[in-house]
Amino acid sequence: MPLSEFELIRRYFQACGPGRGDVLLGVGDDCALLEVPPGQALAVSLDTLVEGVHFRRGVDPESLGHKALAVNLSDLAAMGAEPAWATLGLTLPAPDEAWLAGFSRGFCRLASAHRLQLVGGDVTRGPLSCTVEVHGFVPPGLALRRDAARPGDTLYVSGTLGDAGLALLAADAGPEAIRRLDRPEPRVAEGLALRGVARCAIDLSDGLAADLGHVCEASGVAATVHLDRLPLSPAVADHVARTGDWTLPLASGDDYELCVTAPAARRATLAERLPSLTPIGEVSEGRGVRFLRAGGGVLEPLRKGYDHFADG
Ligand code: ADP
Ligand code: MG
Repeated sequence: MPLSEFELIRRYFQACGPGRGDVLLGVGDDCALLEVPPGQALAVSLDTLVEGVHFRRGVDPESLGHKALAVNLSDLAAMGAEPAWATLGLTLPAPDEAWLAGFSRGFCRLASAHRLQLVGGDVTRGPLSCTVEVHGFVPPGLALRRDAARPGDTLYVSGTLGDAGLALLAADAGPEAIRRLDRPEPRVAEGLALRGVARCAIDLSDGLAADLGHVCEASGVAATVHLDRLPLSPAVADHVARTGDWTLPLASGDDYELCVTAPAARRATLAERLPSLTPIGEVSEGRGVRFLRAGGGVLEPLRKGYDHFADG
């Protein structure tokens, strides 16, 4: 007998993540009842993943469950917010139990790792897609807003860039690149450690060129990135060296690393507290992003990050 909607919710989504004291009422009623700690702002973000657009048909459901939450946690990280709760809207062609078990395992394991509790959602029938809304806390004065970069700031990125893009591009990409594409690890701890130290952060979902462009536009500043300082895995560095093409690290998307600006005086503090951050350039007066080549000269504009509504 096919699973009823209510049995499905009970079995796969009722106990997902830790039980948190600030959840007065979780899954099962018309609404969840949640308590925001005094003095904190509620940080809210939502992302949708659609089959055929954000992931290929037949993708491993456990990886999809992980990624659907990870891309949202990455937004909390980029705000310096501490994860607390999520809601999940799932549209499924059919209630496939093996699929649901895998999805829920990937989602709920990552939720538990970040002390985030699933508190509600919706299940509908239709073409496969999932929407997650996350909620976190941040003292309003410490939020890492993208309009807060200032001339003189140093520019950083976490981790390495372009690995997920390599997994999409090359059939023989290694397991590390595939892990970066399928199971990104959101930089939540880094986001929290940046509070009061960094000025501004954004997570890299569309590629450094586009996302840093958003920072420059919102902050009314310019940015210079030194290509020879970009942190690259050996596989991506090799690809760039062979092809001379910087698209992977600058515009392939799905990195889910943080791009951060901080006053130059904070450089020693950041190096000590956050060794996963690499200084890659500077913020200055003006507008737009420039990529400088090692031998001098400016890189020509690249194809920008993915835009769902752009033509062609
Ligand atoms: P309603 O008809 O009141 O909107 P639903 O039947 O959609 O209720 O959902 C019943 C309960 O199960 C609600 O508390 C809802 O938040 C929760 N729920 C539904 N789908 C999910 C899901 N995918 N994950 C977590 N909770 C869910
Ligand atoms: Mg509903």
